[in-house]
Amino acid sequence: MATLFRDKAVESIERGALEKYQLTYLRKSVESALKTPFYQKRLKKAGISCADKIKSLEDLDRIPFTVKDDLRESYPRGLLAVDIKDVVRIHTSSGTTGIPTVIYHTQHDLDCWTELVTRSIYACGVRDEDVFQNMMTYGMFTGGLGLHYGAERLGSLVIPSSSGNTQRQLQLMKDFQTTVVHATPSYMFHLATKIGEFGFTLKDLFLKKAFLGAEPYSENTRRKIEDFFKIDVYNSYGLSEMNGPGVAFECVEKNNMHLWEDAYIMEIIHPQTGKRVPDGEEGELVLTTLCRQATPLLRYRTRDLTMIMPDPCPCGRTHRRIFRITGRTDDMMIINGVNVFPSQIEQVIMRVPEVGNNYQICLTREGALDRLTVKVEIYSKLFAGDLSELEKLKAKIRDMLKASIIINPVVELHEPGSLPSFELKSKRVVDLREKL
Ligand code: AMP
Ligand code: ZN
Repeated sequence: MATLFRDKAVESIERGALEKYQLTYLRKSVESALKTPFYQKRLKKAGISCADKIKSLEDLDRIPFTVKDDLRESYPRGLLAVDIKDVVRIHTSSGTTGIPTVIYHTQHDLDCWTELVTRSIYACGVRDEDVFQNMMTYGMFTGGLGLHYGAERLGSLVIPSSSGNTQRQLQLMKDFQTTVVHATPSYMFHLATKIGEFGFTLKDLFLKKAFLGAEPYSENTRRKIEDFFKIDVYNSYGLSEMNGPGVAFECVEKNNMHLWEDAYIMEIIHPQTGKRVPDGEEGELVLTTLCRQATPLLRYRTRDLTMIMPDPCPCGRTHRRIFRITGRTDDMMIINGVNVFPSQIEQVIMRVPEVGNNYQICLTREGALDRLTVKVEIYSKLFAGDLSELEKLKAKIRDMLKASIIINPVVELHEPGSLPSFELKSKRVVDLREKL
């Protein structure tokens, strides 16, 4: 297939020119970061009192890392670099309640983000004649609005169907002749298993491409989805701290994801030492925003594991590619595309007076979707009581969890001492999902 560029000058920019551009915009980012209470303290401590201290890209090393907890501790406005009147939207990380990580956007920020998404989907051949059904959740989660505006700017017909309601999704796909979808890989599997049940066949669909992301998946999964639907599947990576989708995207080569280096400086570091690792070696992805006014983030540790692909891509884009995300350095679980930390579950169940000391978090797969089961030990005297009381307790815990982590878990009540206990570091999460 011919190489497809939306903006050839930017996408195939010569590396030297790209690095010059990055330095200019890194200094701008440092300058605006210094307007936030958080970075004022952090950067001054590191001896960076003004942007002039950054003389080359190597000076990036002088900037301390930023981590998710920094964002939480700066809630709500500690990382805001502009006047609130210039902010037009906020987004937060998926699944987080309690103290979320909030990202503010000016209109300029949204325009840049949209352009990155438009550029990405254009590279895969999406055009104005396409019908784009966005099956990612709308709202604070960035997968909805992020792709929405990108596809709209391209002129495609956008169906903002959001997630869930599989029968309706299939009906919309049939009636409006959807050619492109955006979803999680697990949801595409789910669609595949439900298509016949709802009375549809592949002949009812007009699908050509799918952009799949928000959770890790393997090459095998891509192939299975491609073979089932007879489509092309492209990997899409992003995180709300870096806008959302549009950070890194596959081109038609379908051989790992170009990370848009005019918008982000990327580094891959050893998660323990914090030192940069060579291209082709796995480590943690660290990103610096280059064109965000409202919430500039410097050397943000994504916790995602990947590596820089050492070879250039035959498509001609000079922005380097990262390998598909292989895991995380922290204990964050991704359940049907929603981020959940075990600590969020613990905080909820330990608020319930009937719950004893021990609990276990089990992840399994039911059909194509993930299923979360939270097993808790309760005091033995409760088992002697009325069965309906136990059902009420289960429902109470389920509702409290749902309110905190957004997804609906199965709750099991167990006798004291029946769940595995640990003398040293506990292993509370049992992940029995087969690697997709
Ligand atoms: P959120 O901030 O809620 O959008 O979640 C972002 C996280 O989702 C990332 O840090 C990754 O761990 C995960 N993620 C997003 N896209 C992908 C992808 N294509 N492959 C693997 N993991 C992904
Ligand atoms: Zn390419």
